[in-house]
Amino acid sequence: MKSTMMDQPLSINHLLERAGTIFASNEVVSRLPDKSLRRHSYGEIRRRTRALGDALRTLGLRKGDRVATLCWNHHAHLECYFGIPAAGGVMHTLNLRLSPAEIGPIAADAEDRFLIVDDILLPLYRQFADLHRFECVIVFPFSGAPVPADLEDYEQLLAAADPDGFEYEPHGENDPVSMCHTSGTTGQAKGVVYSHRSTVLHTLVGCLGDHWGFKSTDVVLPVTPMFHANCWGVPYAAVMLGLKLVFPGPHLHPEDLLDLMQLEPPSVALGVPTIWMGVIQAYERALTEQPGRWRLPAGMRSLVGGSAVPESLIRAFDRHGVWLLQAWGMTETSPLATVSYPRAELQGADADERYRRAAMAGVTVPLVDLRLRTDEGGDAPRDGQTLGEIQVRGPFITGSYHGLPVTEDKFTDDGWLRTGDVATMDELGFVRITDRTKDLIKSGGEWISSVDLENALMAHPAVAEAAVIAIPDAKWSERPLACVVWRAGVQATPAELSTHLLARGFAKWQLPERYEPIDAIPRTSTGKFWKLRLRELFPA
Ligand code: ADP
Repeated sequence: MKSTMMDQPLSINHLLERAGTIFASNEVVSRLPDKSLRRHSYGEIRRRTRALGDALRTLGLRKGDRVATLCWNHHAHLECYFGIPAAGGVMHTLNLRLSPAEIGPIAADAEDRFLIVDDILLPLYRQFADLHRFECVIVFPFSGAPVPADLEDYEQLLAAADPDGFEYEPHGENDPVSMCHTSGTTGQAKGVVYSHRSTVLHTLVGCLGDHWGFKSTDVVLPVTPMFHANCWGVPYAAVMLGLKLVFPGPHLHPEDLLDLMQLEPPSVALGVPTIWMGVIQAYERALTEQPGRWRLPAGMRSLVGGSAVPESLIRAFDRHGVWLLQAWGMTETSPLATVSYPRAELQGADADERYRRAAMAGVTVPLVDLRLRTDEGGDAPRDGQTLGEIQVRGPFITGSYHGLPVTEDKFTDDGWLRTGDVATMDELGFVRITDRTKDLIKSGGEWISSVDLENALMAHPAVAEAAVIAIPDAKWSERPLACVVWRAGVQATPAELSTHLLARGFAKWQLPERYEPIDAIPRTSTGKFWKLRLRELFPA
């Protein structure tokens, strides 16, 4: 017997058409370099996106060609998300926080033919232009300054194009739409390529009620860069549902974000913990120093992930009526793979238990299979104790890297992605990340979780941030070293910090060997604690 269903490929083009017709008057707001706000309706965004597709074709784009973007978060970047695949191209987001020496080889690895770049990022582009030659460079006049005569002007190209006559490039659902290189925190950057199918399925899963839980009335503020794992896929979901989007442009300082929240209050924001740590510190400081300057939008929820989310951060925001919803994933997983939400069994749980769960990576999302493999090769029991490496598979998990052979350090023989993250899982299926394989601390044959120590230290009133690394030790092989950043005007002694950890259930042998006060924890290009750098700073 055959199914009677139509064999229509999943397609992100459908999402754009839906937004541009059903939700034509809903708004996309972008903050420009001069901090003014620029507004477009979804009807306009649809026309401009189709115009971009037409313009790229006129410039010679062929199916499968890579079009790199080097852009902040704004409406034109959103147009790239849809307009490049509309013409059959593959959007390749370049991470503007990497050094030029890193960006050039990434563009070369993808064999990018085109580049769409913000005018304010041209100085960065010029520093890697010699490392990879784009055939065509299109400048988005974000600041309004004139575009250099030897380069293409995005707005002029759109003005000359024919959005009404434009026809989408025919495609199969497994054809590529976008490409992102892993940020290379722990090694060489590798290309992950997403398809129409993986993107649509990921979008639908992300929108589930317990996940992002978007409603048509939501206003979404994506602080997560659009160059990082497709901004967690949220732009696709926002467009599918016609949600009002508020893009912060290049203004990501806590004060700027809080200002923007007053001008265009979001109901949902998304970003890495670093961003929210900065926001809450600025906000709480202002409560005493400049009362009334800002109000956090009532009932706002914030999607947080990309690195461990300290329980103290979740509690701090909750005190001001904002709930942080933690998710775990990676570039390779589109990225959403687990989300922490109070499932039915936890409805009656007390506040401490809810916070404890919210600080975990959470429950595996539908369509993803997740297992924890122990050192011995079996599956870790769901006891909340036994450590194992997270391995995943599913229709929006990458099965290889662009241009690289499938190797056993990244993929298992039976077809699972090895994430390099170490975790436990409990009886309710809650995953708790304890470390990355490379960051694990093994002391006297026992594992110590750097993430647990960091979270506990960050709950101390004198500690703004803490990162824990392993240092070599003759007797125990490795011992933990804690780098701490003090809150303004306060400090604690090592003995006080150790007492605080002991009171939180750590055993004596798990306590850091040393505490090193530092001004700031070094960050990677995507805002994670840069432990490689810390290990260089404190080799022993
Ligand atoms: P890269 O791997 O290059 O740093 P990714 O953005 O793909 O770039 O990072 C994915 C990694 O980020 C995960 O493997 C994990 O180590 C970390 N991560 C993501 N979300 C969380 C989370 N909620 N808790 C702890 N770690 C997280």
